[in-house]
Amino acid sequence: MKNLEKYIRDIPDFPKRGVLYKDITPLLQDPVAMRTAVQIFLDNLGDIKVDKVVGIESRGFFFATLLAEKLDAGFVPVRKPGKLPYKTISEAYNLEYGTDMLEMHVDAIKEGENVLIHDDVLATGGTAFAACNLVEHLGGNIVHCNFLVELSFLKGRERIKKYPVESLLKY
Ligand code: AMP
Repeated sequence: MKNLEKYIRDIPDFPKRGVLYKDITPLLQDPVAMRTAVQIFLDNLGDIKVDKVVGIESRGFFFATLLAEKLDAGFVPVRKPGKLPYKTISEAYNLEYGTDMLEMHVDAIKEGENVLIHDDVLATGGTAFAACNLVEHLGGNIVHCNFLVELSFLKGRERIKKYPVESLLKY
């Protein structure tokens, strides 16, 4: 089993001063490391039935699609405003300064479907929380949220504590 930690590169002061950015591109360059990450996610899900995997723009898309294929589930993108071409629902969420918005297609989730939420990094949890709200708005049943990296000190887990949460690497 590969040690995944060495595939996450720290970039200080990106995209702005004071942020230690967790760069997952070294992980994406290595097929064995990617396969390892997918397998850990799958093992931790066990035999929960998943109908849709929701990936959050944009770095959540990579593993969400890999997981969807393995789980025999559909993939659903959650995107920033104005990116999705069809009718959307939207959810505002708080940033450090101001607010931002996420959108999902209105027909992306059917009532009662089991949904896995995935993103690359869980920081304050605001993004994941907004994605969860979009799914629930459409009647989806969130069965799990998973992340490659969790910045534990930002306590994002608290924001989504009503769901099972898993991260492969905690900092
Ligand atoms: P948050 O809403 O605070 O949990 O932030 C999570 C979102 O912001 C995810 O979509 C991440 O891709 C991105 N993000 C936040 N902090 C970082 C970080 N230190 N390194 C890389 N991405 C981050």
